Amino acid sequence: MDFDDRAQLDASQVEDVGRGGGFRGGGLAVGGGAAGIIALIVALIFGVNPGNITGGDDPAGLQPTSDLSAQCKTGADADQSEKCRVVGVVNSIQKYWSEQIQGYSGAKTTLFSGGVQTGCGAADSSVGPFYCPTDKHVYLDLSFFDELQSRFGAKGGPFAQAYVIAHEYGHHAQDLLGTMNRVGQDQGAESGSVRLELQADCYAGVWAKNAVDTGFYAEPFTDADIQEALDAAAAVGDDHIQEQAQGSVNPDAFTHGTSAQRQKWFTNGYSSGDPARCDTFSGGI
Ligand SMILES: [Zn+2]
Repeated sequence: MDFDDRAQLDASQVEDVGRGGGFRGGGLAVGGGAAGIIALIVALIFGVNPGNITGGDDPAGLQPTSDLSAQCKTGADADQSEKCRVVGVVNSIQKYWSEQIQGYSGAKTTLFSGGVQTGCGAADSSVGPFYCPTDKHVYLDLSFFDELQSRFGAKGGPFAQAYVIAHEYGHHAQDLLGTMNRVGQDQGAESGSVRLELQADCYAGVWAKNAVDTGFYAEPFTDADIQEALDAAAAVGDDHIQEQAQGSVNPDAFTHGTSAQRQKWFTNGYSSGDPARCDTFSGGI
């Protein structure tokens, strides 16, 4: 993944609140309860402990937000630093979707460490990356990318990270398109949750196909890049996670789809480059 050195980054699309940051308005928790549950069902890239987004207080202290605009100015910066790379990826993804969705409104990505206060309640890092439809932010602790390798056995890499971010922005697209509201909060192999998640994987693939046209990349993604995404998709499949955690697979508890399904739908998006080919709601998945 090679950014165009001359590409101008818009660092305002990403905020870095540091450790325990993000306490807007005095640290009062907003949401929780139903909103927190909604966020969990629709937002996460893998099944987690529902206790990790709550309406309660976050114990961590307040830290000032670091200003990414000073360090992340061009594509060359995105090639050099992880946080600037996130900025470049987010910029490209939002450029793509802003051209696809009429009246597109942006979603900020909030980088945090440890815990964060969100419109969906307080969250800690064990939740994994998620999209909160209430405040329309993507939340990401960069340490998740280490966990993706150490805990879930993925190979990692810059494009694996881009896939994770693009999946979360796929949820933002679903939110804007009204898809989220049409889906129940059930789980299971054929459930609305799984169909929503697989569509987000497909949307990630669609972005990947069109990313060069957004002007942020010097050249199309390579087969090795795409392999990083497919490898990450397999690592966070419900069957793989369940097998790892409990030694068996229970399709009735699926929320995101199997490793094979996640790879298949990312590939559907990538090979077509067309969001219309991401209909996970009618027919087999
Ligand atoms: Zn998701």
